[in-house]
Amino acid sequence: MNSSACIFCSIVRGDIPASVVYEDEQVLAFLDIEPIQKGHVLVIPKLHITNLLDVPEALYGPLFRAAQRVARAQKKGLGADGVNLLQNNGSAAGQVIDHVHLHLIPRYEGDGLHWSWQSDGYENRAESQETADKIKKVIDE
Ligand code: 5GP
Ligand code: ZN
Repeated sequence: MNSSACIFCSIVRGDIPASVVYEDEQVLAFLDIEPIQKGHVLVIPKLHITNLLDVPEALYGPLFRAAQRVARAQKKGLGADGVNLLQNNGSAAGQVIDHVHLHLIPRYEGDGLHWSWQSDGYENRAESQETADKIKKVIDE
């Protein structure tokens, strides 16, 4: 399936140019047009799939294999010291393009990039257990 209104599907079709770093039958990886750091790569399935919640099992391997190859190449080719893997699902989580993508961001010691990651802690052990139970109860559904 391909969505005519989707920018990433247009890139897959070759209608919009992109700086491709990796391609196979199921996956495409290309530079993000507004990189957090130079060499910031997006890994996508060629099929139009909205987000992680809809990714078919058959694509887990191809997507993560490609992500691993890109991360290794960012270290080797760009001299990155580390790599962040980010993935947004839904607008509340910052997803802007509704075609699932993995962000691979090369990182360098002391590069000064920080996520504003403030802990919203649990009141007590009971609250954390209750929260875990809400997830666990429906995990097989
Ligand atoms: P999201 O916020 O949905 O996780 O990330 C979407 C990403 O797609 C953004 O980082 C944005 O810079 C990138 N992007 C948006 N439009 C284009 C485009 O036309 N070409 C490329 N290469 N990246 C794009
Ligand atoms: Zn698409």
